[in-house]
Amino acid sequence: MAEKITKASSGELIVPDEPIIPFIEGDGIGPDIWKATVRVLDTAIEKSYYGKRKIQWKKVLAGEEAFDATGQWMPDETMAALKEYLVAIKGPLTTPVGGGIRSLNVMLRQELDLFVCQRPIRYFEGVPSPMWQPEKVNMVIFRENTEDIYAGIEYMTGTVEAQALLDFLTENLNVKKIRFPESTSLGIKVVSKEGSERLIRAAIQYAIDNKLPSVTLVHKGNIMKFTEGAFKNWGYELAAREFPNQTYTWNQWEQTKKERGEAVANEDLKVASIGGKVIIKDTIADNFLQQALLAPQDYSIIATLNLNGDYISDALAAQVGGIGIAPGANINYDTGHAIFEATHGTAPRFANTNSMNPSSLILSGVMMLEYIGWREPAERITQALGVAIRNKRVTVDFFNLMKDATLLSTSEFGDEIIRHL
Ligand code: NAD
Repeated sequence: MAEKITKASSGELIVPDEPIIPFIEGDGIGPDIWKATVRVLDTAIEKSYYGKRKIQWKKVLAGEEAFDATGQWMPDETMAALKEYLVAIKGPLTTPVGGGIRSLNVMLRQELDLFVCQRPIRYFEGVPSPMWQPEKVNMVIFRENTEDIYAGIEYMTGTVEAQALLDFLTENLNVKKIRFPESTSLGIKVVSKEGSERLIRAAIQYAIDNKLPSVTLVHKGNIMKFTEGAFKNWGYELAAREFPNQTYTWNQWEQTKKERGEAVANEDLKVASIGGKVIIKDTIADNFLQQALLAPQDYSIIATLNLNGDYISDALAAQVGGIGIAPGANINYDTGHAIFEATHGTAPRFANTNSMNPSSLILSGVMMLEYIGWREPAERITQALGVAIRNKRVTVDFFNLMKDATLLSTSEFGDEIIRHL
């Protein structure tokens, strides 16, 4: 019988054998890539569990389709369903122009308080990449999703609000550093201890659960000491307080090696060292962007603030083949709410052409299966997608960059994956 996914008071997800999972097809190329995705997911589940487990998909409306049918971009019933069923998957949505809606995605993140934006970055052999050794890239980014300079508290120069804030800063806080007050717009960078801790806690727990070697806190704390610097400090403190037996800081690790008379090698970062403990370290964001190119093998889980995370996610995605293959999820690990989504947009020029790459949505589906604990179909799909790409039977984005490849449509690429499941 189809049932809801729920969360136990102990914090675990309770996933029935036939969970009801809402899906939003999305706008533009959304319907094309969703059709391929749902066939791949259902077949992989069937092949793994022989009918004992299956997903009961529940279509919910959002975006243009919803607006045409109901006059609302994000109908109340959709929001209610996403709240009720906890886990959902979606295609890309058009950002409505005007009407006071910043973005439907932002709306979902805020409404459900989805504080982790999770983006795994891994390489599939054969994917065209600008890197010399792209196979060394294997990271999962945990980007804080609700705070930072992205909180939307900003004022245009010339407005009453900007002037009031300027006056407050100069008169009450004796700020003298504003160079051109007459033409200054202002934005507020919001970073809290609670907000930082819940993100970093989720990142460390993920590393422990998946037996990964390290969590790197990426920040600009050298310049922004009380926001980004505090994020880093709160991260180290949290690791020591909440995960004392499961984590080691890089400094502690160096110390231990020294006491043992051993040299510290970068190799240490690739193994879960000392009885499987996770190493906690930090890197300044600009240096991280260098190191991610020069020594990507030294990084595993990245925990970072909203703006850094935005830049880093796209830069790293490009290292392993870019937008057509980058999955993502927005998650609240406290309530269990999670929405899995392709990270690209609606690519409206290609709507209904059945030509675009469905991999990002398929891999978002893989993340969803992992999240609900259905690892076997998740592994099957990852493996089968890898075979399709290795065989150079790909959609146009990869076809254009590969030698001797075979061009497939979106649906044919779905068939190709299914053949290898
Ligand atoms: P886009 O990601 O839709 O497209 C940019 C280009 O990337 C496309 O022209 C195409 O060449 C390529 N591309 C995108 N998806 C691809 C795929 N699956 N396979 C192969 N190539 C692919 O970005 P845009 O044109 O800036 O945005 C279009 C619309 O999407 C806007 O309304 C924007 O607000 C919205 N958007 C939505 C989301 C979301 O729902 N998560 C994210 C970003 C943008």
